[in-house]
Amino acid sequence: MSDIQQQLLTSADFLAITRQFPDALPETFTVHLTHPTSGLQTLMSVLDTGVISFEPVDQFTDSDIVLSSAVHGNETAPIEICQQLIAQIIKGELALKQRVLFLFGNPASINIGERFVEENLNRLFSGAHSDGEGLCNKERHRALALENYVRDFFDQGATIAGERTRFHYDLHTAIRGSKNDKFAVYPFLHGKPRNKQQLQFLLSCGINTILLSHSPTTTFSYFSANEFNAHAFTVELGKVMPFGENNMANFSNCKNALTLLLTAQDLGLAEFDESDFNIYEIFKTINRETEDFYLTFAEDAENFTDYPLDHVLAVDGAIEHKVTVPGEAIIFPNAHVAIGQRALLTVIPCNID
Ligand SMILES: [Zn+2]
Repeated sequence: MSDIQQQLLTSADFLAITRQFPDALPETFTVHLTHPTSGLQTLMSVLDTGVISFEPVDQFTDSDIVLSSAVHGNETAPIEICQQLIAQIIKGELALKQRVLFLFGNPASINIGERFVEENLNRLFSGAHSDGEGLCNKERHRALALENYVRDFFDQGATIAGERTRFHYDLHTAIRGSKNDKFAVYPFLHGKPRNKQQLQFLLSCGINTILLSHSPTTTFSYFSANEFNAHAFTVELGKVMPFGENNMANFSNCKNALTLLLTAQDLGLAEFDESDFNIYEIFKTINRETEDFYLTFAEDAENFTDYPLDHVLAVDGAIEHKVTVPGEAIIFPNAHVAIGQRALLTVIPCNID
């Protein structure tokens, strides 16, 4: 057995190995894990740095689950949640009953504690990695590779007899605080109905704010929803903190819900009731068009803060971007983006479609 296999089996710390080899592992490998009490086997496949799958052997499964984190490298809480789940599976503390693929999206950016190294990975999916200048940086190569790992994982699941359900939760934390601490972006489904059970699942994760996207995007969750008909969400679990400074109690609902999903236990979901949720839709996308761009609100204004009608939100050279609808609120502001990039979204309350 090689050093790296030995290291993984003794430490169960796939995150440490990923951080040790941020660009590529010295080798890839598969290992059969035997659960200490049940004797059931799980096939562990280490496919790349930050890419590891677990598949129950000779057991009934009906779900293919992708859990991604570190698509933005400084968003540590989801990385810690996923590392804990991986460790529990390797140590036999979690009796896995479904296929799962874990992805640490951008290992190099984890190591520098930044959102990304050269380019925002979560703008590079659905082929955007190859647009414009093409595969010109590591994030673009990684986006292509991650697409292929997800495709292979779902394709392999499709070879298993019986009806299966695909899931992809792309786990993030927001740069800023949020009036609604945790929220999820529900990608555009091209008119297909939104899944209420999935909203109940998110509620069980502690997420009651849902942002409906009404157009195709280049995010990871849209990629999986659109190309593989997966139940896919960008899940925002709170505010960015350095490693070790996350209050993991804030994430216990989420970790518990994911554990139930992986172990095929009853999720205990209640009937859907829209009044349990704050549902928003994206109203405006404001791109930065000039050098003279600024946002009028405080640097630390929280996501989902709303402003009165006619309030100026952003000034871009001669253009003023104003509130035009009651309840219009800001989300994901970032004045420091490159010209032509998105500096702000606004959202308005809506009903689930
Ligand atoms: Zn993020």
